[in-house]
Amino acid sequence: MEAEPENCPGVGTENAGKSSACAGCPNQRLCSDPNTKLEDPGKALVTEAMREVKQKLLVLSGKGGVGKSTVTTLLSRYLAHIYPEHNFGVLDVDICGPSQPRLLGVEGENVHQSGSGWSPVGVDDNLCLMSIGFLLGSTDDAIIWRGPKKNGMIRQFLSEVDWGKLDLLLLDTPPGTSDEHLSIVSYLRNDTAPETLQALIVTTPQEVSLLDVRKEINFCKKQRLSVLGVIENMSAFRCGHCGETSEIFPAKTGGAAAMCAEMKVPYLGVLPIDPEVTKACDMGEDITSINNSTTEALASISQKIVEGLKML
Ligand code: ADP
Repeated sequence: MEAEPENCPGVGTENAGKSSACAGCPNQRLCSDPNTKLEDPGKALVTEAMREVKQKLLVLSGKGGVGKSTVTTLLSRYLAHIYPEHNFGVLDVDICGPSQPRLLGVEGENVHQSGSGWSPVGVDDNLCLMSIGFLLGSTDDAIIWRGPKKNGMIRQFLSEVDWGKLDLLLLDTPPGTSDEHLSIVSYLRNDTAPETLQALIVTTPQEVSLLDVRKEINFCKKQRLSVLGVIENMSAFRCGHCGETSEIFPAKTGGAAAMCAEMKVPYLGVLPIDPEVTKACDMGEDITSINNSTTEALASISQKIVEGLKML
């Protein structure tokens, strides 16, 4: 049985690999062996590859389908648009369901490999993307990978992409708190500059989604990963015809704002359900320069993110 993520003592902590929750976890041997940890060559390779990436933001969600990938796309496009003098990257680490090539409108592009690694695909002058989606033969191919191969791929992704100079790298991760997340955090965490890696959590307002977000926040606390904030996605729908606003997913328990107050993490705001977003993302188009309620909400959320990152 796989360990409950809430009971994971945390990679690098005193009880790592030793607590009852570690029984059966594929990382147990790695976590409990101090020599293995010290000698993991992957960490040094990742640090070297990311040396010119100033900030990393892990985009997390408790459940699939809450809009994590969409929010990653919108934020990267919006930030690239309003900060043209800065460079942004997106790394699609959702290795079983990579959707960024489609969302960012670069599906079918080829990734070039040079002596310094894979070159990310350019989306805009100051926005680039690397995704497993580029390496698959067909977009319909299922990737069925066991743990070690998956983790090897993640390490390769983190250490062999030639990002060059980036101000911010957004990482679109799989939903939940799985083995992949443990690997990503342990490779990317910089203990001498912990503020360079933070988490951004996306949820919808229903309690079933918020329950999983609580687990996500506890995972971050255990991993000593600072939570930059929580975005509530798809809360309200403003009808383009009558102008009325309807709550499609009513927040019976106060939604993400109440949960953030309870768990003492920053609440960044709400993104509405916007049929234009669904359409644009399906077509790989950019809607962040249009002026509507979604871009207004994005502006306010981005402002808080930029303040939290202390980078721009
Ligand atoms: P996740 O990455 O969490 O699995 P996705 O980003 O793939 O979720 O989103 C799931 C679906 O919801 C997609 O079809 C996407 O277009 C749609 N969606 C997400 N956020 C919004 C939004 N704010 N407005 C309209 N549609 C949205």
